[in-house]
Amino acid sequence: MRAHALSTVEGYSGYGAEQGEKLLRAKIASTYYSNVGIEEDDIFVSDGAKSDISRLQVLFGSGVTMAVQDPSYPAYVDSSVIMGQTRLYQEGFGYGKIEYMKCTPENGFFPDLSTVSRTDVIFFCSPNNPTGAAATRDQLTRLVQFAKDNGSIIVYDSAYAMYISDDKPRSIFEIPGAKEIYALVLDILKPCLLAKGLPLDMVAIEVSSFSKYAGFTGVRLGWTVIPKELHFSDGFPVAKDFNRIVCTCFNGASNIAQAGGLACLSPEGLQAMQEVVGFYKENTKIIVETFTSLGFNVYGGENAPYVWVHFPGQNSWDVFSEILAKTHVVTTPGSGFGPGGEGFVRVSAFGHRANVLEACRRFKELYK
Ligand SMILES: *Cc1c(COP(=O)(O)O)cnc(C)c1O
Repeated sequence: MRAHALSTVEGYSGYGAEQGEKLLRAKIASTYYSNVGIEEDDIFVSDGAKSDISRLQVLFGSGVTMAVQDPSYPAYVDSSVIMGQTRLYQEGFGYGKIEYMKCTPENGFFPDLSTVSRTDVIFFCSPNNPTGAAATRDQLTRLVQFAKDNGSIIVYDSAYAMYISDDKPRSIFEIPGAKEIYALVLDILKPCLLAKGLPLDMVAIEVSSFSKYAGFTGVRLGWTVIPKELHFSDGFPVAKDFNRIVCTCFNGASNIAQAGGLACLSPEGLQAMQEVVGFYKENTKIIVETFTSLGFNVYGGENAPYVWVHFPGQNSWDVFSEILAKTHVVTTPGSGFGPGGEGFVRVSAFGHRANVLEACRRFKELYK
């Protein structure tokens, strides 16, 4: 309908608001952030979370330090590499100047923050890709406190929040203090950070996406939340700088994609997204049951469309290759998500039921 309207004199529209259409921004705020004080003008609509992760890197600049969960979604580290924030790559250890926060079965896939060095930015994804782990309220409260103590910024990736089935937080802004004004300035860093305009008083930004809720991977639609309460140490609003980046490097998401996003957030759309998420979670259950019955230690799956299967002592790529060669099923080697993913394979639930059942039949054949 929207695409057709563009061919008419009445329905044609040119450039839209770079931040996204007012109606969609308001709908995202009221649907996902109604009780946490996030408003329409805190939302920046984008062509996907991945693009926004890179735009945030442009906002931070090349002089900052980064921490990531290990393993984690590769876009955080790779965009840091592109920005020139990192040092040399070392096999088995990852990139220099990146703080890898180990997330293992032993620590419940939440890092031991007492061993984590201070960084300017902390990327945190929950529910996590690839481990499937969703952080508890208590864990996120500790993370926010850690960020406040250190004057760090959390970039929280909630691309899988709709997959949470229990009462775990769906947004970092559910944690008190996550969007609070915060003005810690570390004296040693101050001169160089002020020169770069680093947002020192920022605690959390959230990136999210329609990709995994509505099958929008190819449509391209996501959003970033930057609370207006967040200010640079000199009092300048962070959102204003991000706005400048969006206007300079982007110009806004496709209006056709935004019409689709608005439809997703209608009562029928929300219902359809719940059904899609529910369907993939059924797939996940089948995959978890399969590997559990075969005697593997299996993680994730409960609050995410990914199952994280442990192959202790084995090389991820060897496991991946054997599965591919013998079953013709594609999994993802865990080491691709960081050094901490070695010895694991990620199995995705995004597929047709018949294909998932057939893949599981072949896994049972292979590992019987
Ligand atoms: C898939 C995914 C995204 C979504 O990226 P888009 O660019 O919106 O498609 C973001 N973060 C994580 C962790 C993902 O797995």
